[in-house]
Amino acid sequence: MMPQLIYEKFVKGYTEKQWGVPAKTLSANLAKRFDIREDDEPRLMRHKFQGLPERGYADFMKALMQDVPVLLNCDFLKHQSEMQAKQTLIYTGPIDEYFGFSLGRLKYRGQQRQHEYLRDTDWAQPCVQVNNPNPASGRHIRTFEWKHMMPPEQAQKIRGTVVTREITVTPTDPNDYEYPFPDQTNAKLYDAYAERARGIPNLMICGRLGEYRYYDMDQAIARAQVLAQRLVETQAQPDNGVRLNFME
Ligand SMILES: Cc1cc2nc3c(=O)[nH]c(=O)nc-3n(C[C@H](O)[C@H](O)[C@H](O)COP(=O)(O)OP(=O)(O)OC[C@H]3O[C@@H](n4cnc5c(N)ncnc54)[C@H](O)[C@@H]3O)c2cc1C
Repeated sequence: MMPQLIYEKFVKGYTEKQWGVPAKTLSANLAKRFDIREDDEPRLMRHKFQGLPERGYADFMKALMQDVPVLLNCDFLKHQSEMQAKQTLIYTGPIDEYFGFSLGRLKYRGQQRQHEYLRDTDWAQPCVQVNNPNPASGRHIRTFEWKHMMPPEQAQKIRGTVVTREITVTPTDPNDYEYPFPDQTNAKLYDAYAERARGIPNLMICGRLGEYRYYDMDQAIARAQVLAQRLVETQAQPDNGVRLNFME
């Protein structure tokens, strides 16, 4: 998929830090997330439309959820008996946690983040994210410098800079689950949980953690739109007494 030198310098070490196993034990498909550029395009994706919400994601989500009743800081699994779905339960947490890990735990990777404020440094690195694929240069996999994401006129007014180093770990607390582990054993275990979910009517387990699939935001939103459409269509049908099943 790429020249060997590029693989060895940039991809192998990064992949091994990310997944904590020898790269050769993983699917070669993972290398598709790397891209060799001959231009100066600094962004990962080449989508025609891309950007950050002007006032940040929290604001964006608030506006999106404006007319939807939301209960925050409440673990659904701990309060399940108090909440009855009127029609369909949509669950977006880890599928193995939903079933009390009864078939075993799915493996995830997550990140520990170390933040540092550098008072006397205006800019610490040339762009938002600098990867650290070399195992000899420390455990961290990448470093972010947040100022690069701000409009230049705001960034220039800030004294110093904040950098965040990320170290990839295998979390045990479901709140720290970030990346589904890409191997056959976990794919099989996920299938077994999905099969169990299929047997429960009016339940939809979905999203990155529910479907045990790494989705970028645009993919997560596209997937949610497909599922929402399916939900609307099935609920628009006259009640024929059939209990619906939403798991694929
Ligand atoms: C480190 C990292 C970096 C990323 N960077 C990018 C990027 O640069 N660009 C990009 O496009 N995508 C990025 N992504 C992917 C992006 O975060 C996902 O695509 C998106 O969050 C998926 O949305 P989701 O709704 O499926 O899942 P989530 O965002 O995980 O939402 C699931 C929700 O369910 C809630 N939940 C879970 N269990 C329970 C429970 N028991 N009770 C109540 N609530 C519960 C969680 O709190 C959470 O709010 C990144 C992901 C990670 C982990």
